[in-house]
Amino acid sequence: MQPARRRGFADNAPMSERTIPIVDHRYASSVPQVPAHALAAGGLLSDRLGRPLHDLRISITDRCNFRCRYCMPREIFDGNYEFLRHADLLRFEEIERLARIFVGLGVRKLRLTGGEPLLRRGVEDLVAMLAAIRTDDGDPIELTMTTNASLLARKAAALKAAGLHRVTVSLDALDDALFRRINDADFHVSAVLDGIAAAQAAGLNPVKVNMVVQRGVNDDQIEPMVEHFRGSGAVLRFIEFMDVGNTNGWRMDQVLPSADVVARIAARHALHPLQAAAPGETAERWALDDGSLEFGAISSVTQPFCRDCNRARLSMEGKLYLCLFASHGHDLRALLRGDATQGVAAIDDDALRAALAGVWSARDDRYSELRGLAPHGDGERRVEMSYIGG
Ligand code: SAM
Ligand code: SF4
Ligand code: SF4
Repeated sequence: MQPARRRGFADNAPMSERTIPIVDHRYASSVPQVPAHALAAGGLLSDRLGRPLHDLRISITDRCNFRCRYCMPREIFDGNYEFLRHADLLRFEEIERLARIFVGLGVRKLRLTGGEPLLRRGVEDLVAMLAAIRTDDGDPIELTMTTNASLLARKAAALKAAGLHRVTVSLDALDDALFRRINDADFHVSAVLDGIAAAQAAGLNPVKVNMVVQRGVNDDQIEPMVEHFRGSGAVLRFIEFMDVGNTNGWRMDQVLPSADVVARIAARHALHPLQAAAPGETAERWALDDGSLEFGAISSVTQPFCRDCNRARLSMEGKLYLCLFASHGHDLRALLRGDATQGVAAIDDDALRAALAGVWSARDDRYSELRGLAPHGDGERRVEMSYIGG
């Protein structure tokens, strides 16, 4: 038993929020204050560093069929680990309601993640509900998913039919023995490749393939990944290994800087940089000169991009996090359902909108820019990647 990871963390909520006793909560959280006056519609929302709210990542389950060593190490996420009860998860109607309100506040991209999002039963129904959301101008929202692809071959066509636009697939190695060691659940590379092929055939294009690069673990897979995906239509993205959560034993010397990744590819192929596709885009984009592959390098550690960070993250139990490295969440479920134990009543859409605007307006997170300058305070427990997604 490891009680510290299950219950009862000190609440370090901002004073503007109502502090609640953390009894039945996995991570520290507080209930956002509901302003007395509803927010005027249409105003541009920005946080304390002038950053708009553009992306919402929605983690829909804390469960996963993989046990990637850097994310859900088996010795912690084992048979004794208490995953959330179904009743604690946001229902699809609650997720859709929040997503709709976020879209009203400026969100233009929704990404489903987890845990493994394809494990959530009926995920296609949720996709259909989210795909129906429109901006005030009647435009659709970009709707994507990050998945380990183990179930994608079975589900790709249904996801596309439900309205999903694209998928990002995680694949850290092409070497089967190495991949099985990384996922620690005996999943074969072939299952992931089948999932990618099914997604492409279903039209979930361009499929992005994310590889988290760990020096000395899978950095010898960079070149094979490039060779494999040349000419496939998929976009490769190399991600620096990050110090997310508390369980993955991160060390700086395991990070292979993106600059080294690009240099290794450049040693074999002529390449050129591409323009950023959108403001706030995290990947530096490159293409091979022969047109056979586009790839991106995401330098979350060596070249942090906090100043453009326009993402919020919603956990499966309805806590909103303003940074991947946050140790404190904003309990939206209490506002959706009401929570007598916390003395909180359920509120309507206008009040929710005003409360969310207040939370985003107060945001000043920029952990990656401060990494190394100001180490994270002792005793603050950061959320795990499997809880808020990537
Ligand atoms: N299970 C799905 C998957 O693996 O695609 C979605 C959730 S997973 C938490 C989202 C992404 O986070 C994956 O691409 C994973 O490789 C990445 N990730 C997890 N831990 C990470 C870490 N410490 N550093 C960088 N990326 C990480
Ligand atoms: Fe599961 Fe994704 Fe985490 Fe791997 S990275 S353990 S697939 S949630
Ligand atoms: Fe955004 Fe936080 Fe990552 Fe900076 S550290 S880019 S604020 S999620």
